[in-house]
This record gives sequence, structure tokens and C-alpha cells, in this order.
Amino acid sequence: MDHASERNPGDAPRTFAIELCRLPTMDDRPGLISFLIGGGVAGRLEGKSATLTDAALRGRLAHFDAHSANEIAAVRKALAVENGRTTVYEAWPALDGCLRFWYGFVGSQIRPIESACEACGKLNRGSVGGSVGESFLRRCGCGRVSRITVPNHMPLSSAPAR
Ligand SMILES: [Zn+2]
Repeated sequence: MDHASERNPGDAPRTFAIELCRLPTMDDRPGLISFLIGGGVAGRLEGKSATLTDAALRGRLAHFDAHSANEIAAVRKALAVENGRTTVYEAWPALDGCLRFWYGFVGSQIRPIESACEACGKLNRGSVGGSVGESFLRRCGCGRVSRITVPNHMPLSSAPAR
């Protein structure tokens, strides 16, 4: 990939706000973490909220050494409580790079994960970033909480070429 082509020469990196929020506790386990990339472009990105496991968030925050140990500890503390929220800031040459990093992070990329409720059979779907084999809980509209395991990566094209 040619990262240089994403840059506008002479443009200083822009700072993007990444809003993090701990989702409600389910069956005594902390919920997932939702994130929303805003930073003055929130209108454009509305609806692009997705969720992460704790491991997936840790990987992203640690990746570039862009966040100090103190900052990461503060994030962990803020997200230790139900509905706790905090915002981290990252400088990127352009929004695209920031989005690609947060959505496409290798090993825990955001993808739609579908699951059938154990009680009513309803198919529930949500965008989650987690490592293959990691599990999380999801509450169905009927109230039942099911444990979901992050599946192996699906091929980009679902139909094999013949
Ligand atoms: Zn259900």
C-alpha cells in the first residue's frame, strides 16, 4: 500500500477524536466498548459506530506508541465502569488513514458478526472487532444473553470463482 499517496503535501496532520464508551454489563461481564471517530467530522461519520473487545482496543492504542502509559491507564479506568466514556486523540494526515486503522486493524478488524439468539432464534447482527476465538456477550431484543465467539475470517468474496 502506498501511504504517501494519502497525504496532501504541506498539510499538517489533523487531530481526530475517538470517542470510547463502555456498553452495559451483561451477566456480570463488562460489555463491549463502542467507538466513534469524530473530531469535527462527526456529522459525516454518523452511524459509523462499531464495537471492540478490550483486547482489540488495547492493540489499537498500543500500536503506534501514540498514547502514553498514563493515558492508557486513564482510558482503562474510565471504561472500568458501566457506561463510562472517554475520548482519545490521534493525529493522522487524513481521515481515511484513521478510519482504515481503527476499522481494519490486523488481527481484530471490524466486521459484521451475526448470531442466532439461543432463546428465540432471532438473527442479531453487529459490527465487532475482536480476535478469532475471543468471546463476547450479546443481548437479544427478547432479553436473552448469548455468548458469541469471534469466527474465523470470512473470505472477502463469498462465492468462489469457478
Ligand atoms: Zn431472542
